[in-house]
Amino acid sequence: MQPKQLLIALLICFSFWSCKDDDKKVDTEDLQSIVEPEQKKEFGFVLEDYIVKRDTIRKGDSFGEILERNHIGYPRIFNIAENAKDSFDIRRLQVGKPYTLLCASDSLQTPECFIYQPNSIDYVVIKFADSIETYRGKKPITLVEREASGIVMSSLSETMESQGLPYQLINDMSDIYAWTIDFFRLQKGDRFKIVYKQRFIEDSIYAGIESIDAAYFQHKDESFYAFNFMVDSTKNIADYFDEDTKSLRRTFLKAPVQFSRISSRYNLNRRIAYYGYKLRPHKGTDFAAPIGTPILATANGTVTESRRRGGNGKYVKIKHNGTYSTQYLHMKAQNVKKGAFVKQGDVIGWVGMTGNSGGPHVCYRFWKNGKQVDPFREKLPAAESIPDSLKAQYTEFIKHLKLKLDQIQFEENTIEPPTEEDALTSKT
Ligand SMILES: [Zn+2]
Repeated sequence: MQPKQLLIALLICFSFWSCKDDDKKVDTEDLQSIVEPEQKKEFGFVLEDYIVKRDTIRKGDSFGEILERNHIGYPRIFNIAENAKDSFDIRRLQVGKPYTLLCASDSLQTPECFIYQPNSIDYVVIKFADSIETYRGKKPITLVEREASGIVMSSLSETMESQGLPYQLINDMSDIYAWTIDFFRLQKGDRFKIVYKQRFIEDSIYAGIESIDAAYFQHKDESFYAFNFMVDSTKNIADYFDEDTKSLRRTFLKAPVQFSRISSRYNLNRRIAYYGYKLRPHKGTDFAAPIGTPILATANGTVTESRRRGGNGKYVKIKHNGTYSTQYLHMKAQNVKKGAFVKQGDVIGWVGMTGNSGGPHVCYRFWKNGKQVDPFREKLPAAESIPDSLKAQYTEFIKHLKLKLDQIQFEENTIEPPTEEDALTSKT
């Protein structure tokens, strides 16, 4: 009888244990799947299951030393490094970058996983609990929609800056409206509204602007809407269109060089000190950029000149159609020959300072019917509208965005209005 009782007692114990065990599992699963699942996970791990040690790579640190400090012996370290090397070179750890050790939650706290973050989004996982596994991951990014508005007192950038809006947003606004509104000639009282998206890593760390989804600009009582719409999802081509499906872009690029700054505008009344303040009209727009910067054709066309002559230095001239030609001066070297057909965005040469040029820049000249004009003041033909096949979809798409824009209230500016003289200076 006794052995039988013992057996029953043991069975009861076992079932009790197993039940308890099961209960526990159910509990943790519940925790993971129902109660705040996102917050407990990082790098794809449930952090609660480990003792988490975080630090940054210090000067003189190496993968081996970090693991050794955490009680992993050298043969093992060598083994881990050997296994990981095809996926990640452990010698590339950079001083100052954060890393995380996930250690067993027992008294030994043996590390089971090393996670390195080369930047705020990407991470590398080296797992070595039993088998060794190395892989890369990205932290989840969430997009948060924001709204902004303002009334221009002097320049757009000052108004936006005074509201703490990031520079990228200012830049995006000038790009969107590059051909529609001359931000150098704004009027006091012009106003804007924007709906845009911010990026956050794991819902908490701000990681910049994703995009402006919709914008509204009121200039001299005229309204200009802009909506960002994906015209070709396979090629990932998105662009800005107005409420009537018309493109906000023109058939010409805004500038023949990227990331440049305008150092001198088209100005028929320019006077230069060096020439005794004599009238020296500037019939081009100068874009300052480092020597060697690619110069792009601002529209499709045929190269009519590619040569070197006098003050122009090395230059290229392109005929776009019966009305317009463009010319690009002071090149370091040309990349196209006379007679060649070029497409918008093709590299036709590189920034230099040949000819009469005080510093590295491209003097961009815009010809209309044989006369040089200011492209920024021209009513240039618009780029293609939304294709007919997408018009219905577009109209539906912008409905709620337009409503959102229309509902934004203008915030009174906190900055003091500038004096008349300060007002309307040429700053975008
Ligand atoms: Zn010039």
